Amino acid sequence: MQLVCNADRLGGVIASTRDGEWLLENGPNSYASFGADEEQFLDDLGLRERALRRSIRQTDRFIFHSGRLHRVPTGPLSFLTGSILPPAARLRILRGVFGRYQPPVHDVAIGAFFRQVLGDVAVDTLLKPALAGIYAADADRIGLEGAFPKLARALAENNRLIPALKSMRGPSPAGAKRTPRSLTTFSEGLEELPRALEQALRGAGVALHTGAQPRLQPGTERRWRVEWQDGAAEADHVVLAVPPPAAGDLLAPVCPEARQPLAAIEGAPLTVAHVGIRAEDMPGDWNGFGFLVRRGEPVRMLGAIWSSSIFAGRAPRGHHLLTCFYGGDIDPEVTEWPDSRLEQQVQADLAATMGWQGETFALLRFRHWRPALPLFRVGHAGRVRSVESTLPEGLHLAGNWLGGISIPDCIRRGWDVADRIDAALPRET
Ligand SMILES: Cc1cc2nc3c(=O)[nH]c(=O)nc-3n(C[C@H](O)[C@H](O)[C@H](O)COP(=O)(O)OP(=O)(O)OC[C@H]3O[C@@H](n4cnc5c(N)ncnc54)[C@H](O)[C@@H]3O)c2cc1C
Repeated sequence: MQLVCNADRLGGVIASTRDGEWLLENGPNSYASFGADEEQFLDDLGLRERALRRSIRQTDRFIFHSGRLHRVPTGPLSFLTGSILPPAARLRILRGVFGRYQPPVHDVAIGAFFRQVLGDVAVDTLLKPALAGIYAADADRIGLEGAFPKLARALAENNRLIPALKSMRGPSPAGAKRTPRSLTTFSEGLEELPRALEQALRGAGVALHTGAQPRLQPGTERRWRVEWQDGAAEADHVVLAVPPPAAGDLLAPVCPEARQPLAAIEGAPLTVAHVGIRAEDMPGDWNGFGFLVRRGEPVRMLGAIWSSSIFAGRAPRGHHLLTCFYGGDIDPEVTEWPDSRLEQQVQADLAATMGWQGETFALLRFRHWRPALPLFRVGHAGRVRSVESTLPEGLHLAGNWLGGISIPDCIRRGWDVADRIDAALPRET
C-alpha cells in the first residue's frame, strides 16, 4: 500500500506547534468523544495513556451579544433562568420544541429551517454564531443535509424536534448508562494523532510519499495508476482523501464529468490568532470552553477558545492562552489584512469581550488557512451523490466534505471506505 501526500507532513489542518511553554493548535483544538470504537482506536495507536480529556457538560460556553458574555444554557432550568435570550424568544423556542414542524423534503438552509421552527432570535443569537464557530459559515447559506447529514435524516423522518433528536442517538442497551461526552486532545497537542497514525502505517509496511504531486491514470488490467515525481504504483483501489477541487483535478483524466462540480465546492478562509495574555491584564475567572460572537456587535472576531482553561500544559504559569478565529464565509476580507492591522483588531476585540487591559500580548501568532474548511452550500449533498455515482469502480472519496466536518466524522468516513474496499477484495477460498 502507498500513501501519497502533497504536503511535507501528514495531518492536513491538524497542526500543533510547540513555542517554548506555549502549545498552539493551528487547526482543531480537540475532538468530541465518539463512542466505544474510540478506545480501541486509541489503544491501537498507543495513544490512550497520552489522552487528555475534559467533560463537555462541565465546560461552560458563552455568547457575546448586547455588549457582554452570556452563558449558553446547558439544561431546561438554565434555559428558563438564563440571560441569553429575552422572554419572548424563550417562549418561541418552547413552542418550536414542543410543537410540530414541517419535515424538510429537500435540502434547505439551516438558518431557514430553524427560523421556521425556533424563531429569528434563536437563530441569530445561538445558531448563527455556533455555525460560524464550527463551519466558518453563514447558517443562512449552508444546507442542512451536507453539514449535518444525520440531523437532516432525523428531521425528515419526524415532525417534532425531541423525537428527531432522540432518534439520532439510537437505542441504548437496556440498563446501560450513556458515557458523558468529553473533549479529547493529547499531551503534545492533537497532532499526536496523525503522527501516531503515520507510525502505525509505516509499521504496517505502507510506503509514505510526502511533498509529492500525484496524478491519476488508468493502469493495466482495469487497475489504477498513480504517478508522482519520483515514483508510480498500480492498485485496484485508490482513495482520494483530499479537498474537493484537488479531487476534481485528480479525477479529470479518468472521470472528467466530476471535475466541474468538485471545483465548484468553495472553501472558507480562516485566520487563527493565538493570543497569550498575562493573567493580571485580564482579571476574572476564565474557566470554560470560550465564546462566540453574535453578528452585529462591534467585534470582528467570530469567537475564541479558552485553550489554557480547557487543557493543562498549554501556557506558562500566570498566563492565559486564547485561540481566536477570524474570517470564514461571513467575513473573508479580514483574512487578507496585514498582521499589524489584525493585531489592533484582536486587541480591540479582547478589550470589548473579555476586558483585556494590557499594553501588549505576551504572545501573538497568526495562522492563515486559505481555504480552511469546505462550504456546504444548499444542494451540496445531492451534488456529491451525483459525483459519487459517476465514479468508476475502484475509486473512492474521503474527507471532511463527505459526511461531516469533525475529526470523528472524518475517521468514520475513513473506516466506511476501508470496509467497502475490504468487502470488494477477492476472498481466498
Ligand atoms: C481552524 C480549524 C479548527 C477546527 N476545529 C475542530 C475541532 O476543534 N474539532 C473537530 O473535530 N474538528 C475541527 N475542525 C475540522 C477538522 O479538523 C477537519 O474537518 C478535518 O481535520 C479535515 O480533515 P481532512 O483530511 O478531510 O482534510 P485536510 O486536513 O484539509 O487534509 C487534506 C489533505 O490532503 C492533502 N492534499 C491536498 N491536495 C492534494 C493533492 N493534490 N495530492 C495529494 N494530497 C493532497 C493535504 O496536504 C492534506 O494532507 C477544525 C478545522 C479547522 C481548519
